[in-house]
Amino acid sequence: MVFWQVSFFNCSVDSLLIFPRSLHTYKMPNKPITQGYKIYGIADHGYLYNFLWSSREKGLQDILLWPGLTKTGCLVRNLALSLPRRHLTIYMDNYFTSIPLFTELRACEFGVMGTTWPYKEFPAGLKELKERYSTKLKWNTLLARVVQDTLCLAWQDNNIVLALSNIHTVHQTEDFREKVRKRPPKTSTNGRIVRPVFGDAPKKELQIPCFIDDYNQYMGSVDLANQFRESYETHRITLRVWWPLFYWLIDVACINAYRLYQLHMIELQQRPLTHLQFRTKLYCKLLEYSEKAKLHYLQIGLGGRRVWNPDLQRLHYWEKRAKQSTCAWCAYELKCQRIGNKKDLKGIQARRSIGGCVFCKVAICKEGYCWDRFHSNNVNY
Ligand SMILES: [Zn+2]
Ligand SMILES: [Zn+2]
Repeated sequence: MVFWQVSFFNCSVDSLLIFPRSLHTYKMPNKPITQGYKIYGIADHGYLYNFLWSSREKGLQDILLWPGLTKTGCLVRNLALSLPRRHLTIYMDNYFTSIPLFTELRACEFGVMGTTWPYKEFPAGLKELKERYSTKLKWNTLLARVVQDTLCLAWQDNNIVLALSNIHTVHQTEDFREKVRKRPPKTSTNGRIVRPVFGDAPKKELQIPCFIDDYNQYMGSVDLANQFRESYETHRITLRVWWPLFYWLIDVACINAYRLYQLHMIELQQRPLTHLQFRTKLYCKLLEYSEKAKLHYLQIGLGGRRVWNPDLQRLHYWEKRAKQSTCAWCAYELKCQRIGNKKDLKGIQARRSIGGCVFCKVAICKEGYCWDRFHSNNVNY
């Protein structure tokens, strides 16, 4: 059996759910989502490469079907083939996995790994283990069988985990990895099988199969994309059901841009902006033609530390600094005036001060209103 070389680059396929904020939503019992779209995405570390969507009303969008694969299988194949290159490893959960799909993706030169349900092609012995003896084996017991060049696995954790892989092996020492795990508490019914392994130790280095460790590590990519999106989503309440898709696209574009920016900054060995700072900068740049956005951008530039409540009076105090520099408030005011272009301000420079706020670490004039205005919530004078 030949295994594809594992690339450092790993993608994962998962489904994202969009909660529509439309006015005519209705609740469906026992479903985590009320009504709306399901989006299937392929992502790497929170960067979404591509997606396909389905709506409750119209079902899955048109895709190229492939003989021998289910519709879900075709969906994964389509997403995989849209990636910029082959020889990547794709991780997926049991909603997508099947042996025919793994065989097909292998033919397309992709490595694949994922947990699985006992489907019809899955070896009967392993299936029976899951169904009848799911909590009976000793922890870390591992059984494997090859079907159509795909490795079918059953691993005893607190339950039996079934998995498929075409990139892992389980017969060599390097197929296992030491991982420090915490002993589950006595009250945990789930931890009954793994607890005895720990003895009295609260933590222990355990040897676990690489495939399960890789899965845990990489499967989160799409989840990560979802988390980023949820933190600052642009949704508004809408009357048309397709609006959520539109907002989702804006979100994805922003998040993808942020992920690329982060990678770029890491390469330059510089500290990246936080997600919020990045988004603020992004909209200020995009709306640069607007005077209001420019002023807002300047306001943000003043920083959040400066706004204080009376409790913080002891933190913010004026002190002489090592050398004279431009007063933060005077500089801000001058820039605002330049945007408004109220007067001819050529050659005018902001006042300089020898001291400033110790906490905010900026120079501020001692005389006049600079101190108060700089430290005020309301900067619109
Ligand atoms: Zn201050
Ligand atoms: Zn000043």
